Order: sequence, then C-alpha cells, then structure tokens
Amino acid sequence: SPIPDYLQSVLEKARPIEEGAPAGYIDVLARADTSRLAVALAMVDGNIYSAGDDELEFSMQSISKAFVYAIAIEDAGLKAVLDKIGMEPSGDAFNRLSLQKDSNRPFNPLINAGAITAHSLVVAPDATVEQRTERILNALSRLAERELHIDEEVFEAEWKDANRNMGIGYMLKAAGIITCNPAEAVRGYIRQCSINVTVKDLAMMASVLCNSGVHPISGERIMPAESARQVLSVMATCGMYDGSGEWLATVGFSAKSGVSGAIMGALPGQVGIAAFSPKLDERGNSLRSVDICKQLSADMGLHLMNSS
Ligand code: GLU
Repeated sequence: SPIPDYLQSVLEKARPIEEGAPAGYIDVLARADTSRLAVALAMVDGNIYSAGDDELEFSMQSISKAFVYAIAIEDAGLKAVLDKIGMEPSGDAFNRLSLQKDSNRPFNPLINAGAITAHSLVVAPDATVEQRTERILNALSRLAERELHIDEEVFEAEWKDANRNMGIGYMLKAAGIITCNPAEAVRGYIRQCSINVTVKDLAMMASVLCNSGVHPISGERIMPAESARQVLSVMATCGMYDGSGEWLATVGFSAKSGVSGAIMGALPGQVGIAAFSPKLDERGNSLRSVDICKQLSADMGLHLMNSS
C-alpha cells in the first residue's frame, strides 16, 4: 500500500547517515543498537502508519517533558505553572543551571530546570515520587492507548550519576521555585524520562496534541484544548534544544527530541509524527530522525509557515 511504502523509502534515504553517536552519559543508551531506525505517522482521523523498527521500545527521555507540562497544568492550573516556569527559549544546553534574571523562573518547561519544576507540580507539591510516577504513567498510557512501563535499567543508569540534575534541583529549591525535597523531584523526573515507548506510541500521543486534546481513536477528551495549544507552542519555540530556531525554519512543525534518539513532531489539525534512531548530533538531536522529519515536511508540505 502506498503510505507504508513511502515511509519505507524515507527510512532508506535516512539509513546511509552514519555520523553522530548515541548519548554517552547514560551507559544503557551508549550501548544502543545504532542500526535501529523507525518512523510512524498518526493522522487526526485515527489512522496510523509506520515502517522500520516500529515495535522497538526506547525511553522517552526529554519527550516526556512535553506531556508532564500538560499534566502539571491540569493538576496545578495554568496560572500556577506560569508563575513558576517561563516560556522563552533559553539558547542554552538542556541541562544548564540557568534561571531567568528577574523572576528566577526556569526559561521554559522543556529544559531540565523547567521540566523538574513541572514534575514537582504533578499531583500536589507534597506528593511522593510514587504518586507522581503513577499519575504520569497513567496519563501517558491513556495517550498511548496501552499500558506503558518504566525501563528500570535506564532509570538506574541515569540515577546513579545524576549530579548535574541534582544540582539543578537544589538550585530550584534555593530559588524558591520548588518546595518539595529536590532529590525526590529529580528522582521522579528521571523515572519519567525512563518510560518506554515505540514510534507508534509517540505518533499517537502527538496526534492527541494535534487534535485539540481529544484522542483520535477513543474520542475521549484527554486534556483541554488550551493545554494542547500551550504544549505545542512551547515545543515550536523550545523543543529541539538549542537548535529550535533552525528547526522551525527548516522543518517547520512543533517537535520535541530526546537523547535516546527519538523525535516527536506535531502538525496541529493534521498529523502526529515520530522518528527514531540512536545516533545524535552535538546538540542532542538524532541525525537520522532529523533527516526523516525534513523529508516528511518537504514531501508532504508540513511546514507551518507555508501559505500554500
Ligand atoms: N534524562 C535526560 C536528562 O535529564 C533527558 C535528556 C534529554 O532527553 O534531553 O539528562
């Protein structure tokens, strides 16, 4: 059939890209099979198409930040979230210890400082790691329409050497941005990053954002339309680490990448997109996944700023 054949041809064009390296700082990711390659599209009418290693599970890593932001908005309210987390691109590396000058807030929810803050707002400020993890797993499982799990090996690998994220946690506590125990916020955040998904899961999860928060398959409202719009907006300006401006100009749809090698893309009203391959460029974006998204955007006319 034409769409899976097309997706297969997209993968074959991306496959020869051999540059880059898998994330080195989490040993399980450093040992990833770098030949793996997958793509999926989930239309807002509920149809899903995929090719390549589309059953392979990998950890969400930073892609979880987009959804946990939506959950924080639901649990704490948009105003409380905006009081604590800004929505400006930082121009810094994702794991930088940085806060905005006047407000002391993290720049946005997609860098680690903002993501750890968003995590701390899930359920309630005094909730336990277990309560927050369960809440996030349940919410993400509803988006994926199957029960998701934490990859404990990935979690342990990151948790045993989490000094930089711990530093961010204590900085947030000192600045009065988080009120809970910083080490617990970081442990919960790393658990959230270790949730496993496939490209089909990610494309479907993105399609909910593209469909104003209503699940294209179940028809259930998963989040208010305003939350979906808020998430897609910060993804558009801050989703691709410090390559976000170039990404918007060249690829042209909202996206979030993660250090396991995945990119989740979203074109409102149309399609959720996911691509996966482990080797990353120096900014932390998967080289083959970027190429796949570029091809899809050019071939299908997915650039948001196209007027025809
Ligand atoms: N768990 C990762 C970290 O906080 C997420 C990084 C990412 O995917 O950008 O370092």
